[in-house]
Amino acid sequence: MSVKKIDEILKRGIVIYGEPILRKKAKTVKFIGEPERWLFEAMAKLMYDAQGCGLAANQAGIALQLLVIDVGGGLLKLANPRILKKEGIAEIEEGCLSLPKVVVKVKRAKKIWVEALNSENQKVTFEAQDILARALQHEMDHLNGKLIIDYASWRRRIFLRRQLRLLRKG
Ligand code: ZN
Repeated sequence: MSVKKIDEILKRGIVIYGEPILRKKAKTVKFIGEPERWLFEAMAKLMYDAQGCGLAANQAGIALQLLVIDVGGGLLKLANPRILKKEGIAEIEEGCLSLPKVVVKVKRAKKIWVEALNSENQKVTFEAQDILARALQHEMDHLNGKLIIDYASWRRRIFLRRQLRLLRKG
């Protein structure tokens, strides 16, 4: 990862549905070095510019297990996140920066316990609930190549078909 590469990422913007990288399983990050920190910054910029509350590295065109989140409580930068425990369930409509104008009802755990690496290479565990838990689960899905449309009922999928076709054509 070079300065030039980061420049390219910012110029290209958020990867939109239809690009294979959104379906790729992101690779584990062994160490957060300077390049990964730049990438975090680039991802945060893309997210804030799009007024989103989370972004996974796949959405910046890089299949690494990195995500940024800000649901109003400050910027979180995490690598290799994984859910240790889940509690409760809620179904709420969600959107996605890679699927403009698409909204899908998604059932997710209300509360989760997460283990991850922070940008200082420290292993952190924490609990999250409500909107933060939802955002984390959404971004972790991205790192596994999963999108909100995968949760849509078949009726909803038929309804979304035209919209998705238009997104794929870009
Ligand atoms: Zn998304």
